[in-house]
Amino acid sequence: MSATVLLGTEISARIKQDLATRVNALRSEGTVPGILMIRVGDDPASMSYVRQKDKTAAEIGIVSKVVELAYDTPERTLLALIGHGNEDPLYHGILVQLPLPSHINQKIVANTINPLKDVDCFHPQNVGRLLMGDPYLIPCTPHAVLQILLQANKPSYWPEGKHVVVVGRSNLVGKPLAALLVQKNLYANATMTVCHSGTRNLSHHTAQADILVCAMGSPRSIKPFMIKEDAVVIDVGVTRIEDPSAKGGYRLVGDVDHESIDDDFATIADKAAAYTPVPGGVGPMTVTMLMWNTVKAAEFQRLGAQLGVSA
Ligand code: NAP
Repeated sequence: MSATVLLGTEISARIKQDLATRVNALRSEGTVPGILMIRVGDDPASMSYVRQKDKTAAEIGIVSKVVELAYDTPERTLLALIGHGNEDPLYHGILVQLPLPSHINQKIVANTINPLKDVDCFHPQNVGRLLMGDPYLIPCTPHAVLQILLQANKPSYWPEGKHVVVVGRSNLVGKPLAALLVQKNLYANATMTVCHSGTRNLSHHTAQADILVCAMGSPRSIKPFMIKEDAVVIDVGVTRIEDPSAKGGYRLVGDVDHESIDDDFATIADKAAAYTPVPGGVGPMTVTMLMWNTVKAAEFQRLGAQLGVSA
């Protein structure tokens, strides 16, 4: 049997249509959803991510402003810019692209963004709300994973009642995904296992997963023998590897090895029920979920303004 390929690009297209309708409704009521995106330095991957986010915002009708700061920009300058964004009613969302230069404290930056405009969900208030099962906004990559599972419209892919194994425990992906999927609600209700570099016998755990989420940033390290027959495999990992034959001299690969075969001559595509490709899987969905949060933040802040509660 060959697995279903879960294309983030296709699922994104449907969600973006829906978001564009909500943006039109907001615009007709006098609110133009806006996002402020700040990038510090000239890391090529960050530049490409921000370009993609800016382009997707425009497609949906969200106004985005990209501010590019030099690598040696002092922390206080960045914090002042965030402070202005917090006060400016034109911006419903504020995003500071990671990674930041080492002289800038990422925690202070996260704490400075107004939680109502925190479309990346790094503010401790939003992290806490997620953990308590009462999220205001949902972190983009974990939300991307959830929507890929739900929107395939196949109950066998839904997290409810499944054993979900996440490899990776970062604050960006692994931990918030575990917090999201363990909640007692219809869309989650999974049994979670979180693995990391201290996990002994990783393949023992991955081979028990009904749904395996790989978020290590360790290219092609998940092999066919490490997965269960009919598992759903979601590959969050993205690593740039040099490839002189590719445009730009590099290409993107995920954490899952689609080339190797196990003792029964099976590849991941032979064994899994479904998997996400890299590129074209979780990546485009993550960008779409950022727009989802921006639209939701705009709707919420509009309501707050109507009720006389300021953002
Ligand atoms: P990270 O902060 O470096 O975290 C990686 C996690 O994986 C850590 O918890 C680490 O364990 C664990 N890990 C690494 N190698 C391992 C191994 N061999 N066995 C078991 N665990 C291992 O990375 P991240 O920010 O979460 O990102 C992970 C990957 O996802 C990266 O490739 C990143 O580019 C990608 N990503 C993609 C998207 C998207 O939209 N597609 C979004 C975000 C991130 P320790 O905690 O013990 O170190």
